[in-house]
Amino acid sequence: MFPVKIDVQEKKTLHIIWDDKTESLIPLAVLRRNCPCAYCVTERLNRLPSYIPLMSTAQRTLRDIKPVGTYAIQLYWQDDHDDGIYNYEFLKELEKKE
Ligand SMILES: [Zn+2]
Repeated sequence: MFPVKIDVQEKKTLHIIWDDKTESLIPLAVLRRNCPCAYCVTERLNRLPSYIPLMSTAQRTLRDIKPVGTYAIQLYWQDDHDDGIYNYEFLKELEKKE
């Protein structure tokens, strides 16, 4: 399974058309909230119960998207965070998340 087309709709939703003709619509905020890089994963694990999930516009605005090999895409956010590599299976999972 791989994407045949990826684009951003209305600056807030990632739209993917897969080679099996299915489509995924994933809000950028969901992508950022679930960033799979080591830094963000650690941060999520260490979060206090009092954590308030504030997100700036820059944190949920994409600057660029680049393919990584044949299995993933790397997302470049406006706030210069670009360590998150999202593999295709993970993207399919994220589609079901809030
Ligand atoms: Zn991250």
